[in-house]
Amino acid sequence: MSNAYDVIINGASVGGCTAAILYAQQGARVALLERRSDMNAHKVLCTHYIQASAYPVMAATGLDKALEQVGAIPNTAHYWTRWGWITPPREPAGAHGYSVRRETLDPLLRSRAAGTEGVDLKLGRTVNELLVEDGRVVGAAGTAGEEAFSLRARLVVGADGRESTVARLAGARTGTTENGRFSYFAYFKGLARPVGDAARVYYLEPDNAYVMPMEDDVTVIAAVVSKARLGEFKADLEGAYLNFVRSLPDAPDIDNAERISKIIGTVNYPLISRDPVGPGYALIGDAALTSDPLAAVGCAWAMQSAQWLVSRSAPVVTGSGDAASGAALDAALAEYSARHAAETGPHHHLIADFATARPFNEIEEFSFSAAARDVRMAAHFHTFGSRLMTVEEFLSPEIVAQMEQVNGHGLSDEVLRQLAGEDEAGAGHEAADDAFEGVAR
Ligand SMILES: Cc1cc2nc3c(=O)[nH]c(=O)nc-3n(C[C@H](O)[C@H](O)[C@H](O)COP(=O)(O)OP(=O)(O)OC[C@H]3O[C@@H](n4cnc5c(N)ncnc54)[C@H](O)[C@@H]3O)c2cc1C
Repeated sequence: MSNAYDVIINGASVGGCTAAILYAQQGARVALLERRSDMNAHKVLCTHYIQASAYPVMAATGLDKALEQVGAIPNTAHYWTRWGWITPPREPAGAHGYSVRRETLDPLLRSRAAGTEGVDLKLGRTVNELLVEDGRVVGAAGTAGEEAFSLRARLVVGADGRESTVARLAGARTGTTENGRFSYFAYFKGLARPVGDAARVYYLEPDNAYVMPMEDDVTVIAAVVSKARLGEFKADLEGAYLNFVRSLPDAPDIDNAERISKIIGTVNYPLISRDPVGPGYALIGDAALTSDPLAAVGCAWAMQSAQWLVSRSAPVVTGSGDAASGAALDAALAEYSARHAAETGPHHHLIADFATARPFNEIEEFSFSAAARDVRMAAHFHTFGSRLMTVEEFLSPEIVAQMEQVNGHGLSDEVLRQLAGEDEAGAGHEAADDAFEGVAR
């Protein structure tokens, strides 16, 4: 393959490989660069739950079938709350994601990208410079071992994770918010699965936990704990983690399972959001938005943001004449940026607020308790958590009325007024969103 590319993608992980396959399906010539030289390299800090919102992208790339062949689990979840378990019926919206370890997912995705006509996967390439002409990014350069390399393309995509080199070199505007929790997790083999393959998610206020079944009879158990308890875990990680897991309601029976990993985790994981486009470049996945791992949205949004970008920009990067001009690319990237903000913004706003490890607010108490009491509300809750509906849909007047019926009481006038602002101002999700957050203050 020649060195003339339509797109350079930096980072061959979830977002980058997905984008490479989708671009190539549209006829683009793609250079997919990855600093790690091992085809089987994978991200270690992940608990592997891919939300259902990414299902259409996985189907578009054929990843869904490939994942099923390697035993990935079509996922769903049950949620523990102080009102009891929220148990949505299986696949309430007819959709599901997959639970699959990154050591399985990342090599599979990478080999599928490498095997796609039009994708040139270049391992062992570290990008450390952007080529810029007349204020536009026109390529990327870096090192491959001792060698230097330099490539040009119409578009450079940063799919290089939360510390994105492309974002840093391009000077992308970046916002950071603190995460009030830390996480530790470990893997178990042969752990009893009393509710089948469903994951269990615990809202312990303010702490959280996950028990997530994976392929090969492996289960990951995560403790996502308020930073107020960090000292306890630092003093005795092994003891604190095991006590935490053993004291969960309906605790997983770890004493009759084999632990097959060390306890790993991260004590500080701020949330990062960036302007996802600039002249000649775009960011996808964690490079554009690193949300709270607790929400388990990162892999799905990496795949989905790849699709939002490709659907807008592929005709430009593969076009000719005016259709491929800098102005046409800017317009396509602006559309991608708007879509990214619309799809992820309101969800991330709530996720970031919840990441402060504050107590439940009134809307959370109202909606979580309704979901624990009623199976239709449980389905609604799960669909929202799977990011298959907007914040506005989650709190529509019809749904709020149903929750009121289930709970036997309504929301306070203050919250209702904030939600009603949605209709009067036509502000859509913003009003629901602000109401959700406002009551926490
Ligand atoms: C504790 C924890 C648990 C999580 N659990 C979940 C979960 O259950 N579900 C979920 O959906 N998400 C989860 N996430 C988030 C998820 O791991 C990320 O959102 C996801 O990996 C983002 O994918 P990406 O492709 O954007 O970036 P990454 O997976 O980070 O990949 C970036 C790639 O770019 C490469 N790269 C970086 N810099 C360069 C460079 N200069 N040159 C060349 N290559 C470069 C890297 O080597 C890497 O391959 C979790 C995160 C954490 C921390």
